[in-house]
Amino acid sequence: MSDCLFCKIINGEIPCDKVFENEKVLAFNDIDPQAPVHILVIPKVHIESLNDINQDNCEIIKEIHLVIKKIAKDLKIDRDGYRVITNCGELGGQSVKHLHYHVLGGRNLKWPPG
Ligand code: 5GP
Ligand code: ZN
Repeated sequence: MSDCLFCKIINGEIPCDKVFENEKVLAFNDIDPQAPVHILVIPKVHIESLNDINQDNCEIIKEIHLVIKKIAKDLKIDRDGYRVITNCGELGGQSVKHLHYHVLGGRNLKWPPG
């Protein structure tokens, strides 16, 4: 989508600190990290949020999870543990309306979140 921030990152209009990329998924460092590791993993197709996942596009969720697992291993946070979050909608705290998964690690994460 032309006015979507993450679509602009995908097409190179806006730069990012890339961590991983394949034909379907892009991962990059969050601009405002909340932990020593804070990576955003996004589908290259524009999907607004988890609410828009359906039988026809849900294959991407598997791909994203495989990428998250690889990144966690590569960054050596897999053993100590990490957290994966997708904020959905206004009360969920979603500020960018392109599906994304936060991968947080490298510190002891508190629960429950605020
Ligand atoms: P949300 O609040 O929608 O769950 O997460 C959006 C995330 O995108 C936030 O953690 C925010 O810091 C990050 N973000 C917003 N704009 C940019 C940007 O231009 N570049 C990068 N790398 N991250 C961004
Ligand atoms: Zn988008």
